[in-house]
Amino acid sequence: MVRICKKCGFQNQDDYDYCAKCGTPLVEGLKQKQVYVYHAKQQSEINRKAIILSYIVTIFLSWSGFVVSLFAKNSALATFTFFGFFMPFYLVQSKHPTIKRHGIIQMFISLVGVALSFYVMLR
Ligand SMILES: [Zn+2]
Repeated sequence: MVRICKKCGFQNQDDYDYCAKCGTPLVEGLKQKQVYVYHAKQQSEINRKAIILSYIVTIFLSWSGFVVSLFAKNSALATFTFFGFFMPFYLVQSKHPTIKRHGIIQMFISLVGVALSFYVMLR
């Protein structure tokens, strides 16, 4: 048996008194638990290394086509830069505001990289 949250519909284990997702009491007569402290803590615990790594991946993918095109003539490698959009697209879909913001920043980095790559390729 699972305890389904009345508020958000989350399926909790049957020994849970509060919803694991939103903190709503699953048993009559219990008070709403303070879940905000938990959320605030979570916000500061974003993996900085993962964010930095995602920047490196995005910059590498979206700018490598441009760099290669500078040295190799009639290179179709500029199309490779489109892979640079993968990481930002993934990050932008995050529900976390900070990760989303990094995703938007990386989207711009990719756009510039792709634009430069095609400028070099088509000139
Ligand atoms: Zn819930």
